[in-house]
Amino acid sequence: MVELENKGDSDKPETWFIEKNELVKGYSIALTKDNVLFHEKSEFQDIEVFENRLFGRVMLLDDMIMVTDLDEFVYHDMITHTPMCVKPDAKKILVIGAGDGGVVRELVKYPGIEHIDMVEIDKMVCDAAREFFPTISRELDNDRVHLKFQDGVKFAKDAPDSEYDIIIIDSTDPVSVGEGLFTKEFYSDCYRILRDEGILINQSEAPFVLPDVVKGIHRKLSSIFPVFRHYMGIIPTYPSSLWLFGFASKKLDPVKDMKPDEWNQLGLKTRYYSTDLHKASFVLPAFVNDMLDSSKEDEDKKA
Ligand code: SAM
Repeated sequence: MVELENKGDSDKPETWFIEKNELVKGYSIALTKDNVLFHEKSEFQDIEVFENRLFGRVMLLDDMIMVTDLDEFVYHDMITHTPMCVKPDAKKILVIGAGDGGVVRELVKYPGIEHIDMVEIDKMVCDAAREFFPTISRELDNDRVHLKFQDGVKFAKDAPDSEYDIIIIDSTDPVSVGEGLFTKEFYSDCYRILRDEGILINQSEAPFVLPDVVKGIHRKLSSIFPVFRHYMGIIPTYPSSLWLFGFASKKLDPVKDMKPDEWNQLGLKTRYYSTDLHKASFVLPAFVNDMLDSSKEDEDKKA
């Protein structure tokens, strides 16, 4: 855990980072860029790491905030422990993206997980995470983690049927290399390679500022998986802070079929997730429910 003293009004001159998110027009997030630690272009994206006096170290991919020391635990807890509380006997997991290592750091806390395939397209993201985010990336070399530097879209297409208990898609936004991870074709491949109690989790974007992206994800995943529900987390450094995750499954309901007693008996240490918060996170604000209902109407109109 990273303890950050708030350096307050440091006497350093203020240089500001203003996020450029090509999907979110007219809104941004600003952080003082107090000290640049790394800045290189990989084959796939521009990667930068800088220090901010409040959020600690910040990783950018193509000028968009991916992870910060201060609030990374929210996202990594919710994308990992929510499915694991529904299927605590999961043995084989596929993680797509997640180059900072936060998802596998949480997954290896489960002694019952035997094998994790982690498919990250950009090795440089893992290298930068290892160097600058040691508390997040510390399990990238765990012997149960099988790291593959490949395109997750192709990996899912080529993977055998009924291979995984859980798939966690911790991707960038639906732009550039991340775009293919938001298509119906990719989701259908994921359905095929999941076992019969299989669960797919994805980061489902921001209802305040990306309603059309949220509706598109809802439409596509609802048309492929018998069970699909969104749930929420609060992530200060993501656009509008109110963040959705998608829970898609072949048969298990995320709340009715959760196993809180079994999960609590594991005695795992988390900083955001709890089984009570799990239940609450699936209760969505009325405007989000209306948005998701309207995405079905859009579908009917299209049909
Ligand atoms: N938590 C962050 C968020 O919500 O924006 C994402 C963290 S993680 C750094 C996102 C990762 O997805 C990046 O490392 C990126 O390289 C990877 N990625 C993007 N497209 C990919 C693809 N097609 N296959 C595999 N990894 C991909």
